Amino acid sequence: MKYYQPEKECASVEEIRAWQSEKLVKQVKHAYDNVPYYRDLMDKQGVKPEDIRSIDDLHKLPFISKYDLREAYPYGFLAVDKSEVVRIHSTSGTTGRRVIAFYTQHDVDLWEECCARAIVAAGGDKNDVVQVAYGYGLFTGGAGLHGGSHKVGSMTLPMSSGNTERQIQFMQDLGSTILCCTPSYAAYIGEVLKNMGLEPNKDIHLKAGIFGAEPWTEEMRRGIEKSLGIKAYDIYGLTEISGPGVAFECSEQKGMHINEDHFIAEIINPETGEVLPEGTKGELVFTCLDKEAFPMIRYRTRDICVLKREKCSCGRTFIKMAKPMGRSDDMLIIRGVNVFPSQIETVLLEQGYQPNYRIEVDRVDNNDTLDVFVEVTSDDISDTVKDITVKEKELAMAIRNMIGIGAKIHLVPIGSIERSEGKAKRVIDRRKLID
Ligand code: ADP
Ligand code: ZN
Repeated sequence: MKYYQPEKECASVEEIRAWQSEKLVKQVKHAYDNVPYYRDLMDKQGVKPEDIRSIDDLHKLPFISKYDLREAYPYGFLAVDKSEVVRIHSTSGTTGRRVIAFYTQHDVDLWEECCARAIVAAGGDKNDVVQVAYGYGLFTGGAGLHGGSHKVGSMTLPMSSGNTERQIQFMQDLGSTILCCTPSYAAYIGEVLKNMGLEPNKDIHLKAGIFGAEPWTEEMRRGIEKSLGIKAYDIYGLTEISGPGVAFECSEQKGMHINEDHFIAEIINPETGEVLPEGTKGELVFTCLDKEAFPMIRYRTRDICVLKREKCSCGRTFIKMAKPMGRSDDMLIIRGVNVFPSQIETVLLEQGYQPNYRIEVDRVDNNDTLDVFVEVTSDDISDTVKDITVKEKELAMAIRNMIGIGAKIHLVPIGSIERSEGKAKRVIDRRKLID
């Protein structure tokens, strides 16, 4: 199998570090010579390309952040002549102004190979029918998995997101075996499937799903696996580094292997920038090793996560990243307590609710308020107002136990929370609108 490459994916740590060192030296020189903005950053830090002789010198290099990409917008980080660029993609702008990334043909190939590895790791090959229900366009989700599926040689269905009944129709008619989309959209497809009176493994024949582009919990994974009758694999990436496929899950489904032949990962303390030891939670930082058009070196992702190099039952030695908890900027500080929306999702799903919820934070009379809107489960239709109140109280208690502060729960009718076909928007922080 061309996209399972044990000579790379199962190499020893020494081999991996040796390739990384060799490539890093070249990549830094490329960025220094061709990106004036980055050259200035290095000069300010008092470091020259000659100072970088191996991966041990990585810490000498300055970080790049989204701030820099916005400052240099649009062409400031382009490291090749425009005539070499064959494609651009752009971030979804989830946290502000969009960022544009550039690709040469080499960069597109490399990215698609990473996605091909993810498909193969999820059990895919040329006999599979891969339904790509990530959005196509500026977003990297559609293009990445589409390209990966082509490389594997699978039959690729470029569905894009939306039109859920048609998605299911194609699944039935063409016998799709692998579904690629955001986890929130996968959950929605499962819900529509059920509402149409169809059953997994009978009316549709999916075996695996490759879901990413947004945080999702283990509880959500179990729900999706059940509703679609599949094994659900996580995939991680970001536009600045290439797109999905920077890291992918294997059959063990316990963390994602980072494609270390193309990227170096570090975890830092987001406040001080200090590099933290393996196994410690912090901000994920990536250095690209083979990029032509858009060489990101020590790029701060703002994703909070843990790295671990451990023996994996799949045989791969590439370091693993845990599911990111969310970005540092997704973290809510409510009454002085740090709260990640994923913690609330865990409680809701553990208590048997569906992943259809909205979190609203506000400030009333100088006090932070936290309201969680979640749909009643289908069995609850006949519940009396009294039952609903009891359930709301139970849920509030469970959330307090998880995050340490109280929340007001609102159980709302099924269908009243907007469903997501791409990245779900689950948090409304009204305080940001006030400040
Ligand atoms: P934007 O930053 O505008 O959302 P991207 O589409 O490039 O643009 O999204 C990349 C971000 O999506 C990552 O930095 C991360 O926060 C999130 N993300 C991607 N894949 C995953 C995943 N598997 N789990 C959690 N978060 C993810
Ligand atoms: Zn593995």
